[in-house]
Amino acid sequence: MRHDVTFPLYVEVDEIYNLACPASPIHYQYDPVQTTKTSVHGAINMLGLAKRCKAKILQASTSEVYGDPDVHPQHESYWGRVNPIGIRSCYDEGKRCAETLFFDYHRQHQLRIKVVRIFNTYGPRMHPDDGRVVSNFIMQALQGKDITLYGDGEQTRSFCYVDDLLEAMIRMMDGPDSFIGPVNIGNASEFSMRELAQEVVALTGSKSKIVHLPMPADDPRQRKPDLTLARQMLDWSPTIALRDGLQKTISYFAQLA
Ligand code: UDP
Ligand code: UDP
Repeated sequence: MRHDVTFPLYVEVDEIYNLACPASPIHYQYDPVQTTKTSVHGAINMLGLAKRCKAKILQASTSEVYGDPDVHPQHESYWGRVNPIGIRSCYDEGKRCAETLFFDYHRQHQLRIKVVRIFNTYGPRMHPDDGRVVSNFIMQALQGKDITLYGDGEQTRSFCYVDDLLEAMIRMMDGPDSFIGPVNIGNASEFSMRELAQEVVALTGSKSKIVHLPMPADDPRQRKPDLTLARQMLDWSPTIALRDGLQKTISYFAQLA
């Protein structure tokens, strides 16, 4: 069924994974008002649905709730450093408000909630025009185009392969009602965007050269999950190293071209 979560939805369900919302900066900034509505109105509608059906409900939250963090790595207890009026705010504040709604429905209506904070995830079946860094670099490398490194390339991210994320989300949903999160899901291996560009060039054997473009506003300087809670409560750790995940993703994009 195709449905816009900003409108009510009446179906009979016993589990809800609320993953709705564009996650790539170029896509969520295209119609920022709609992005906030998707997270906020979408959460209200899905929570209302969960309440009526007495369903368990999982929210895909994000490492963006930590903003441009001054604590490193980020533990769930960190409240974040988010600009409320910047170009990323529609996504960051929308997701933060969704977390608030989840916890208030839990406290006020005893809903069975699960909140996971997802750190940068990538893998096969991403859209070639997704606009995020992994798919951009791979497509550029495969097509022999310039690799677009924003800023000095020293900013860091920690990339999680999609299968690892899915395993963690399913464990979270299937776990005891008493564990509601929020819990970080990601991979703790941290890389600079320059290192990522070099790795993609090496793995594809591309002749592309790395060019520098301006750094987008409010782009976080560093990001790395503290995964202690996920290890303890979900008995989960990521298993796919960046190089292996990149190889699988490169094979996928190569067969599209
Ligand atoms: N809602 C929905 N599907 C349902 C139940 C509710 O989409 O099966 C929507 C409903 O439109 C409402 C929202 O979820 O606006 C919140 O529901 P809740 O019951 O919490 O609030 P109320 O209906 O009392 O405003
Ligand atoms: N980035 C880059 N080149 C690109 C796309 C992104 O250098 O073509 C950088 C971006 O500035 C950021 C990092 O890669 O520092 C991750 O960006 P992405 O949009 O993938 O995710 P997010 O910023 O939401 O973590």
